[in-house]
Amino acid sequence: MSNARKRSGGMGFPAWPQYGKEEVSALLEVLRSRHWGRITGKKVEEFEKSFAKAHNAKYALACANGTAALEIALRALGIGPGDEVIVPAYTFIATATAVLQVGAIPVFVDIEDATYNIDARCVEAAITSRTKAVIPVHFAGLSADMDALRKIARKYGLKLVEDCAQAHGAKWRRRRAGAIGDCGTFSFQETKNISAGEGGAIITDSKQLADLCFSYHHIGRKRGRPFYEHHYLAWNYRMTEFQAAILLAQLRRLNTQTARRERMAKYLSELLSEIDGLRAPAPADARAKERAWHLYIMRYSAKGFGGMTRDDFVERLKAKNIPAMAGYPVPLYRHPLFAKNLARECRAQIAMHKGRVNYSKLRLPVSERVCKESVWLPQYVLLGSKRDMERIATAVRKIQRSVR
Ligand SMILES: *Cc1c(COP(=O)(O)O)cnc(C)c1O
Repeated sequence: MSNARKRSGGMGFPAWPQYGKEEVSALLEVLRSRHWGRITGKKVEEFEKSFAKAHNAKYALACANGTAALEIALRALGIGPGDEVIVPAYTFIATATAVLQVGAIPVFVDIEDATYNIDARCVEAAITSRTKAVIPVHFAGLSADMDALRKIARKYGLKLVEDCAQAHGAKWRRRRAGAIGDCGTFSFQETKNISAGEGGAIITDSKQLADLCFSYHHIGRKRGRPFYEHHYLAWNYRMTEFQAAILLAQLRRLNTQTARRERMAKYLSELLSEIDGLRAPAPADARAKERAWHLYIMRYSAKGFGGMTRDDFVERLKAKNIPAMAGYPVPLYRHPLFAKNLARECRAQIAMHKGRVNYSKLRLPVSERVCKESVWLPQYVLLGSKRDMERIATAVRKIQRSVR
């Protein structure tokens, strides 16, 4: 009944998301129980316990999505107007907009060329008296340098919020991503390595922080207090029982899927090492373990392909049924929101940081470069077979031969 081997076409890669009879029966169980939300149901809490345990964290809070998880975490940590939060410039926009949503200002810094993760030296250089937190993103599933980041956080008294939307189950040394900083946030949006269509979570070892996160996702209610007693200004960011039911089953598939992605990524990198003009992802630092492989990111050089642009190369791969993507087109600060519309969209923040906020001239070299040179493959490609990896390498060679 599992559709793990179902393909999107005769030549397609494994279908994503995957499900089996576990998801089907769990969904029906919730439907028939008539407990569809966390207020009367049990599945969300059950998922929170399992998710916390899987990450060796004391507490987990499930919520509506990964963007909400970041916002809740920042609110619970007391980040707000007047504060600056350091974020990488090459990430999904939520990492930065969550900061704006709580009234603070994101400060963009560059990433490391090899890892795509926030560069700790750039973090330290960007610290001011207003800096309150850093949000490292474990990009594409590879853990950021948590030794360096924790050292900086301790030295300057900063909070560390790990954005683990792409790093379910990843590790730094012996600890799971998300359970190393003050807290970690996750996404279960449909492309992520565990999915319920939409969904999010926050993990932490702090009881106080976990309780505040609960309040900030639950209209300001407090655990153990009357239902119609509201303490904080907060949205409804609750997860449904249906999502939790699916996620409980998805979580049980995670380790096997991660191991397969690792095997296939290794094999694909071997195959690509014989092709010039396309570089495989750099091997992980020995301290970054259980790489979660949300994306397999190759580095394209037009020189190896007779001057063909990266975007044309991606189109040619897609025409050969390889689901390649160009990824983020620009670093975050180049989006109209930051480059043009910030004064209108975020009047309060701009007023508080008068003269200090101007993203229009920012240029971070590594972030700029990787936007132009990266070619992404989505995680489900790595759930395919060795034969599938060979098909990718063959498609690349064919494109290369056609232009040489
Ligand atoms: C997907 C993603 C998010 C946002 O998660 P949603 O569930 O889509 O809101 C945040 N940060 C990163 C790095 C992501 O990849």
